[in-house]
Amino acid sequence: MSWRTYAVIGCTHGRLLNEPAFAAALKRIEDLKPNMRIHLGDGLNAGAFYSKKPEPEDMELDVRSFESVIERFRPHFYLNGNHCDRYWRGVYSADSVKAYAAKQIVEEVSRILKRNRVSHHREYRIDKPGVRLGNVWFMHGFMYGAQALQQHAATFGNTVFAHLHTASLFSAKTFDRATAMTVGWMGDPGHEGVNYAKSSPQLLGWRNAFGWGAYDTEGVKQPEMNLVIL
Ligand SMILES: [Zn+2]
Repeated sequence: MSWRTYAVIGCTHGRLLNEPAFAAALKRIEDLKPNMRIHLGDGLNAGAFYSKKPEPEDMELDVRSFESVIERFRPHFYLNGNHCDRYWRGVYSADSVKAYAAKQIVEEVSRILKRNRVSHHREYRIDKPGVRLGNVWFMHGFMYGAQALQQHAATFGNTVFAHLHTASLFSAKTFDRATAMTVGWMGDPGHEGVNYAKSSPQLLGWRNAFGWGAYDTEGVKQPEMNLVIL
């Protein structure tokens, strides 16, 4: 049996980044000296590609904010989230201006990750949910709403994910004693780009946070999971 330590952040959301919280997380993670660092996705906000209601957003700023987070956090893995996936799907848009813009961004993001030697999990799909290390799935996350933590544990087993913007641990009543942890987000809740959620009680549950712990590389022992709320 051998243990490896990990640290994860997620949902940095491009220009919405809460710089003081991110700097505090980096400092704490530096002290932890984890073997494995994973960015759980939504490093890009892709507001301009929001299908329900496109937001006026500087796409160049979105990419440069992403680049800064990658260069400073130096993850081993980056996983596309549902926001990132807007660009990846945008490549196939029937609107050729949008398709062109999306293609430029996808190529630039790929260059940034390659230059920083980051393994990139491009697909945001539930049957290829993320990266499995030992007996833990590290993923962006798929289900949303009040039951989301339970659903991730029941569907995938041990899961470390982002997506919900809340910071919580949940022990499922499953035979394999699955545990799910959602590690908050790293955005600024007061940012104008969050206006879509400003009147929702959900916003009050969002936390700047990161996760860390250890997993058994042979997948025998249950993983350690810790949350740090900033
Ligand atoms: Zn998010």
